[in-house]
Amino acid sequence: MRAVLLISIASFVVIYWLESIFPYFTSRHDRVRHGVSNIALGGLNGVVSGFLFPIMILNGIEWAQTNSFGLLHFISGPPFIKAILAFVFFDLWMYLWHRANHRVKFLWRFHRTHHTDCEMDTTTAIRFHPGEIALSFLARFAVIPLLGISYLYLVIYEACLQPIILFHHSNVAFPERWDRIFRACIVTPNMHRVHHSQEGPEFNSNYSSVFSFWDRIFATFKRREDTHKIIFGLKILQDTKWQGLKGMLITPFK
Ligand SMILES: [Zn+2]
Ligand SMILES: [Zn+2]
Repeated sequence: MRAVLLISIASFVVIYWLESIFPYFTSRHDRVRHGVSNIALGGLNGVVSGFLFPIMILNGIEWAQTNSFGLLHFISGPPFIKAILAFVFFDLWMYLWHRANHRVKFLWRFHRTHHTDCEMDTTTAIRFHPGEIALSFLARFAVIPLLGISYLYLVIYEACLQPIILFHHSNVAFPERWDRIFRACIVTPNMHRVHHSQEGPEFNSNYSSVFSFWDRIFATFKRREDTHKIIFGLKILQDTKWQGLKGMLITPFK
């Protein structure tokens, strides 16, 4: 997982730099303060959950591998086929989990900390409430052994997921022509911007993490021509007090 951390940090630095030079929304006033708050929350999550939960997950993986437990153990084929299936299954799980975070009221309380960001950029990719992180690890603790995903397959998935998540949250002015080509396969900035819109039908769409086709398969895909006009955040939590570290931490209890 150290490799994933290094890939994530390197991707973050490159994408943050790119959105500084080629911003999509140019009228951002307090980018540094905004970024510092989100990074502080991401850092807090790393400190609070960075040790206990990964050890739990590793134990779950080890147990499933030792006991040949999980869906992938029932599928025969060469390792690369299993690696592809593990990647696709886990990405499907990510889609379903994200959708549940919008549909189940208790989960939404925590997930909305991610959605109260009124100026979406790379740092939004690490803006998650510690409660959501804890719940997501607990869910993974059950799902990873059920799928029978090995440690290596999980590392491969995370190594691809993190740069893609940073990319689709970024404020990089990625040309629409390229966005259209890329979003045929993966989630792009213009696709995920719709998910961060204030409008209910839009923030209840585009749940995919890596592969964009889950939203097409499950009819939750939404597209907008005028992505420049999207207003980010949640209508009921617009005040600046919800943007600081304290505000983000108390958001679920509002
Ligand atoms: Zn969401
Ligand atoms: Zn997001």
